[in-house]
Amino acid sequence: MAEPILRRRIGTARWEGVDVAPYKNAGSAPFRDITRQLLFREDDLACELRYFEIGPGGHSTLERHAHRHAVVVLRGRGRCLVGDRIHEVGEHDLVSIEPGTWHQFRADDEVLGFLCLVNRDRDRPRLPDAAALAGLRSDPAIAAFIRTGDEEHDND
Ligand code: MN
Repeated sequence: MAEPILRRRIGTARWEGVDVAPYKNAGSAPFRDITRQLLFREDDLACELRYFEIGPGGHSTLERHAHRHAVVVLRGRGRCLVGDRIHEVGEHDLVSIEPGTWHQFRADDEVLGFLCLVNRDRDRPRLPDAAALAGLRSDPAIAAFIRTGDEEHDND
C-alpha cells in the first residue's frame, strides 16, 4: 500500500487519513488512557513509525520483547522505566529501548506523546511473571513506579 505523499497535520498530533486506534486489544495487557496512530507502514520499509499518546495519569504496558524501540518524545512530559532506571522525559528527548529490556511509559499530570520506531517483523511483547515482578519490585523506586493492572485505580 502506498501512502499519499502528503498527509497534513489536522490538529495537535493528529494527521489526515490517520485513525486514532486503541493502543492494544482491551484485556490483552494492562494499560491506561493511551492511543496509537500508525503513521508510516510501507511494504518496502522494514520499520513502522507509530505515535502513541498517553493521557494524564495513564501508562503503557510494562513489557519486554526481543525487538528494539527507538522513541522520540513529541509532546508533553512524563517518565519511563527502561531496564532498572526511571527517567524523566520531555519534548524531543530520545529514548532507546534495547531488546529484552523491561519498559513502561507514564504520563503524570500532562499528556505524553511520542513517536516509536519498530521493526515491521517483530516478536510479541511479554508481560512480567511473578518472579520478574518481584525482581523489579526489589527496587523501591521501581516498585512505586510500575503499573501492572493490579492497582486499585487501574480497574475502572
Ligand atoms: Mn514495547
